Amino acid sequence: MTSDQALQGQVAIVTGGARGIGASAAELLALRGATVYVTDVLDCSATVAAIEQAGGKASAHTLDVRDREGCAQLAENIFGTHGRIDMLVCNAGICPEGSVVGDWEQWDRVLDINLNGTQNCIAAVWDNMCAAKYGRIVILSSMAYYRGGVIVGAEYSASKAALVGLTRHLARNGGEFGINCNAVAPGIIATDMTAGFDKPELDEIPLRRYGTAAEVAGPISFLCGPESAYMTGTVLNVTGGVVIAG
Ligand code: NDP
Repeated sequence: MTSDQALQGQVAIVTGGARGIGASAAELLALRGATVYVTDVLDCSATVAAIEQAGGKASAHTLDVRDREGCAQLAENIFGTHGRIDMLVCNAGICPEGSVVGDWEQWDRVLDINLNGTQNCIAAVWDNMCAAKYGRIVILSSMAYYRGGVIVGAEYSASKAALVGLTRHLARNGGEFGINCNAVAPGIIATDMTAGFDKPELDEIPLRRYGTAAEVAGPISFLCGPESAYMTGTVLNVTGGVVIAG
């Protein structure tokens, strides 16, 4: 992991940061010098402890991304303290196994967290990022947006495809305000989310292995950093070669 301090002095919010991809992303952003607000419905103290142990700056916040007021309040508090929010990593999500049709309760729950929750977070920071003429937003989609899911329910694929539409919309409309918005679409990553899944055989993956959370955190950090300054509206496939698309 790089510790180039390229994000020194900047402030980030990472949702779903208690574990998995969100925790790795928070740790990497902090390693690069950012002050990271780590949020989740679960306890984020282990992520914060790991960051502090590595010499970084972070704090833990209980936040359900469905709580629109809570998202707005957290953003307001951060602006009050730092006068800036440079990066927002919209990572919180759920992925229940499901069927093609699914059930309505699950449909509403997945859309509410994965899609509406993401928009709640973006809405909380958008005006201030526009006013600051700077912002980096990274949204966690999934390869299911592109190829459809197999084990996951229809609502998951639909939510992750909608997030790509949202990413592109924000990129088109945020560019003039200095806001870059990009998505990362992981393949099968070994986290708690996929632990119980009947995962595809390794020979179906060109790189012959599942990804790690750190291997998704790298692209997220790249999209938050100066090296991706001229990229917006893109979707980075992090799938070990399962999705190869131009
Ligand atoms: P994890 O389940 O390991 O971590 C996600 C975290 O988000 C959990 O702590 C989870 O808590 C939390 N969360 C769930 N709902 C909410 C909510 N309403 N508000 C705030 N936090 C919430 O997942 P991963 O790290 O594997 O995945 C992170 C993101 O990457 C997700 O958006 C996922 O869809 C996406 N992704 C993951 C892939 C993979 O193979 N792992 C593949 C493609 C995309 P809780 O335990 O309570 O649910």
